[in-house]
Amino acid sequence: MKKNVHLGHQAKKRFGQNFLNNDAIISKIVDAINPEPGENLIEIGPGLGALTEPVVDRAGALSVVELDRDLAHRLKHHPFLAPKLTIYEQDALKFNFSELATPERPLRIFGNLPYNISTPLIFHLLTFKAQVKDMHFMLQKEVVQRMASGPDCKSYGRLSVMTQYQCQVIPVMEIGPEAFTPAPKVDSAIVRLIPHTEIKNPVKNLSDLNRVCLAAFNQRRKTIRNSFKKLISSEQLELLNIDPSIRPENLSLDDFIKLANYITDNPP
Ligand code: SAM
Repeated sequence: MKKNVHLGHQAKKRFGQNFLNNDAIISKIVDAINPEPGENLIEIGPGLGALTEPVVDRAGALSVVELDRDLAHRLKHHPFLAPKLTIYEQDALKFNFSELATPERPLRIFGNLPYNISTPLIFHLLTFKAQVKDMHFMLQKEVVQRMASGPDCKSYGRLSVMTQYQCQVIPVMEIGPEAFTPAPKVDSAIVRLIPHTEIKNPVKNLSDLNRVCLAAFNQRRKTIRNSFKKLISSEQLELLNIDPSIRPENLSLDDFIKLANYITDNPP
C-alpha cells in the first residue's frame, strides 16, 4: 500500500494532514465536545470526516471549513454526510466566522487543526470570541501547554497571556502519534477554550497587550528593564509596582494588563 494513504486519500503535508484513525479516541474527543441537536457547530478541517460523522450523528447538522479541494469534493459527494453539511471550501485563516453566528446561536467551533498554522489560526479565531460559546481543538501538546501555562514556567509566553486574557483554557486529554495516519512527529492534546463573558480587569486596547507581550517574550532572558526600554522606563515600571529587575516570565496576567493600559495612555 502507498505510504500515508488513509481511506484512499494521499495525505498532503502542506495542508497539515494527519487523519485520526482510532475509533475509541475519536469517540472520547466527541464526548468531550458533547454536540447537541440544534447547536451552531463548525468544524475546521473535516478532512475525511473522522470527527464529522460522529458529530453529525449526534447534532444532525454541521458547517465545515475545508481548504483542500479534493477533500471538500469528497464531502460534497458523500451519500450520507453531504445533505447534513454546509461546506465552505475556504481557508479558515481568512474565514469570517461571524457570518455564521447569531445572538441566539453562538458558535461551537472544533477541529483537529493543521499544526503548521495552529497559532495564527487560534489568534484569528479569538477575534470572533464575542460570538463563540466554546472551542475544542486538537493541537500539538506543546502548544496546549503554552496556552495553559502560568507565570514562572518555561512555556509561559505570548500565547499564554493572549489566550488566558480572552478565554478559560482547559486541557482535556493527551493523544499519542499512533492515533493518526500519517503519525505526526509530536504528541498531541485536546484543549477546550471558553471565551470569558466578562473581563473584570479589561485592557483598553488589545493590540497594546499584544505589543507588550511581543516586547517581553522576544527576549525572554533579559530583565524587563531592558526588554521594555523602548516602551516604558524603569522609573515608570516602579511607579506601577512592577520590579524592573524581574524577567518577562515572572509577570502575571494582571501585570501585562497594567503595562498594556499604561502604554495605551502614554504612547511611547
Ligand atoms: N479532521 C480530520 C481528522 O481528524 O482526521 C483531518 C484533520 S487534519 C490534521 C487537518 C485538516 O485541515 C485537513 O483536512 C486539511 O486539509 C485541513 N486544512 C489545512 N489547512 C486548512 C485551512 N487553512 N483552512 C481550512 N482547512 C484546512
